[in-house]
Amino acid sequence: MDTVMNLTAYGENASAALDAAEETLRTLDAKLDRHDETSTVSALNRDGTVEDAELAQLTDIAQTIGALSGGAFDPTVAPVMDAWDFTGDAPRVPSDEELSALLAHVGLEKLSVDGNTIALSDGAQLDLGGIAKGYAGDAVRTVLAEFGVTSAVIDLGGDVGLLGAKPDGSDWRVAVKDPAAPSKFLGVLTAADTFVVTSGIYERGFEENGVHHHIIDPKTGKPAESGLVSVTVVCGDGAWADALSTACFVLGEAGSLALRDTLAAEKNLRIELILVTDDGHVRYTAGLAERFEPSEEGTYVYEAIIA
Ligand code: ADP
Ligand code: MG
Repeated sequence: MDTVMNLTAYGENASAALDAAEETLRTLDAKLDRHDETSTVSALNRDGTVEDAELAQLTDIAQTIGALSGGAFDPTVAPVMDAWDFTGDAPRVPSDEELSALLAHVGLEKLSVDGNTIALSDGAQLDLGGIAKGYAGDAVRTVLAEFGVTSAVIDLGGDVGLLGAKPDGSDWRVAVKDPAAPSKFLGVLTAADTFVVTSGIYERGFEENGVHHHIIDPKTGKPAESGLVSVTVVCGDGAWADALSTACFVLGEAGSLALRDTLAAEKNLRIELILVTDDGHVRYTAGLAERFEPSEEGTYVYEAIIA
């Protein structure tokens, strides 16, 4: 998944549990990596259809979040990602003509899931880069729990899954990175048994007449400019946390808060958010008031969102 992963587990079976978790991660990576020709996602992108129960389940979640976010999260954005080549050897800014031609192959309606079968139409390609790490976090949490582990930190390149609390029973402390200076942090979140996932402009980008980051607004085919430079989602489910961080980044503050309300009303899913705006504000939902401790060295203005 093109990142560094660190797993820490406590207790009697920790060592065996971590071996099994590593195996799970390698298997998932081999299935979901669209840049690996032998992956299941590559087979789908080549043949237009594939049968796989797990991939169907994950694609279905991606599609659901796509629809709930009004298309801000769109797992068919692959051709546009490829044109920008953010992580490749020759990143570049595609022309407007090129992007609008590519956008003809992008859209949630070009992706369908029927039972265990996934299908693509209109030359669409599946890219699970915005949800795969979070889903992998869910899978690792399940494996660790099966081994009897009740206390673990699953750090998948900045997407952090917390299994239970610390061995002494107290909550974990998770540092949230400062998007302007990733060696610093915005603050510390005190949490247990949840996922803390951040999407920010510092993650993977390149510079050419300005900095271009790798979260695409599917409406324009260009890096999203929503007024946000970082979004942290706190949510009990890893796949949802990951995809929602990407969706909220595209939606901006008002859209993110509206999506949060929709999730509570329609999916009975409660999430908390830490939003960093491009004018130096850190705005966090009121549910984090007791759990988010702003960094003292920061230059940001911190505000709880009372909504
Ligand atoms: P990171 O990979 O840095 O943790 P994200 O979780 O936000 O960041 O995922 C970004 C990845 O998601 C991109 O590399 C790309 O594969 C994919 N992606 C980019 N824009 C979108 C989008 N609007 N909807 C769904 N996936 C996207
Ligand atoms: Mg994401």
